[in-house]
Amino acid sequence: MSETERAQVNGAIRNADVLIVGGGLSGTMLAVQLLRLPGTRRVLVIEPRAELGRGEAYSAVELGHTLNGNAARMSVDPDNADDLTQWLTAYIAAGGWPESDQQHVPVSELFVPRGMFGLYAQQRLAEAKAQSTSSVEHIRAEVIDLQVQVSSTLLTLSDGQWLRGEFAVLATGMFPAARTPQTASSGLNAAAVDPWDVSAMRQLDPQSTVLIIGSGLTMVDAVVSLDQAGHRGPIEVFSRHGLLPHVRRQPPAWVDFLAEDQSLCSPRQLLREVRRQCRCAVHQGIDWQAPLDTVRAHIGRLWSQASERHKRQFVRHVRPWWESHHHRSPPLSAELVARLHGEGRLRIQAASFQGLEPSQNGDVILRLRRRGEQHTTLVRGAALINSSGIEYDWRRVARPLPQQLLARGLVQPGPLALGIAADVSGAVVDAQGLASQRLFAMGPPLRGVWWESTAVTDVALQAKALAARLVRTT
Ligand SMILES: Cc1cc2nc3c(=O)[nH]c(=O)nc-3n(C[C@H](O)[C@H](O)[C@H](O)COP(=O)(O)OP(=O)(O)OC[C@H]3O[C@@H](n4cnc5c(N)ncnc54)[C@H](O)[C@@H]3O)c2cc1C
Repeated sequence: MSETERAQVNGAIRNADVLIVGGGLSGTMLAVQLLRLPGTRRVLVIEPRAELGRGEAYSAVELGHTLNGNAARMSVDPDNADDLTQWLTAYIAAGGWPESDQQHVPVSELFVPRGMFGLYAQQRLAEAKAQSTSSVEHIRAEVIDLQVQVSSTLLTLSDGQWLRGEFAVLATGMFPAARTPQTASSGLNAAAVDPWDVSAMRQLDPQSTVLIIGSGLTMVDAVVSLDQAGHRGPIEVFSRHGLLPHVRRQPPAWVDFLAEDQSLCSPRQLLREVRRQCRCAVHQGIDWQAPLDTVRAHIGRLWSQASERHKRQFVRHVRPWWESHHHRSPPLSAELVARLHGEGRLRIQAASFQGLEPSQNGDVILRLRRRGEQHTTLVRGAALINSSGIEYDWRRVARPLPQQLLARGLVQPGPLALGIAADVSGAVVDAQGLASQRLFAMGPPLRGVWWESTAVTDVALQAKALAARLVRTT
């Protein structure tokens, strides 16, 4: 008798209908959608964090770390676009977030602190639980292995428990970039500082030079954190293209030109047409963000239909532009970055990170190659903030579960090695190319399947569709 068979006989394996691996926004929204469906099922969410619904993004504690879209754009309910606005209206009326007055805009236009958004997700989970005949339980552990059997899935947890479920869903989110510079943290001013850790930043000399790698939205958050911590010294930002995110405005609706013309498929054609539409808008006195925002709804279709060559072209040539124009900054944070840039305190340079040099006095020394130069340059600062993003290639993620799933052949890398392969319903495709009947994925692991598979609205839509899919099959 195998160890797992013995455990089953001894009652040491807990059973459930659905096992959700990861209790960030994706896992939690899937749980909410399962609770809302008729029938009775048992759902276990395995998440090492103390609270469900937060993950990395919504564990934020600073009011200045906000969502990058206003409340009207960030509902977790695909059937009610006003869900967050309604929740927020009640929350503010009950005395929550008194500082929201300072934004002088209607509730639907507020940019909500991400920690507060986590609370919203949690309250929606609590309400769904209270109204459902199904149950959701948080198991606080890491899943370190997963096996797929004929009619079930079996998870091994870090605390030695086993869980058996009819289905398992990988809602494991994003993994930090593998090239995260590692230096021994030997003192207050030494090496890598978390972009969101204001208290660590308070311990820096306020006049010291801080180096930041990456110039996307995480960098914007890091600058907000530094400001909050009282840092007043120079901030040197380095990224390959040296592009800053644009500020998010609220443009009016624009004709859905991609719905009207489905013939556009190459990245070059698409970019040309988007630019033409943007020029057209500006000519009419309308914000260029209006046409760009219509593209979002088509990205999944365009990406999944694109050939591998076109996908590569998009990643190589369009991605930096797409990231800075589409993933835009919340206005208050963007104002801060623009002000510091204008004062000359924040400089942004196009340069690629080559490595860290040893340093004797606790400073950080970066080796960089500036764009267009052959030689490398050394840059010194009192601290380093790594905002260089996410590792989507699971083969490079040094966590037990991704490694075990790859070793067992239960998953294979997704298109361009972005996340893992899956069909359109989220059924994970194994090393033989077969879509699983038992194992599913949602959110960031499906980056290669949909390209945009991370934002609140992506996750909310996937949760609803996947819940329906799982319940149909039970
Ligand atoms: C800092 C930040 C800011 C963001 N801001 C915005 C924004 O303004 N607007 C927007 O639309 N989107 C934003 N996003 C994107 C998006 O909303 C989030 O990425 C979203 O949280 C995705 O949810 P998730 O549950 O898939 O992933 P995560 O939030 O990363 O959660 C995954 C969870 O899985 C757990 N996990 C991983 N592996 C295992 C395992 N083996 N066993 C058990 N648990 C495991 C982790 O502990 C984690 O809590 C932001 C993301 C980040 C990181």
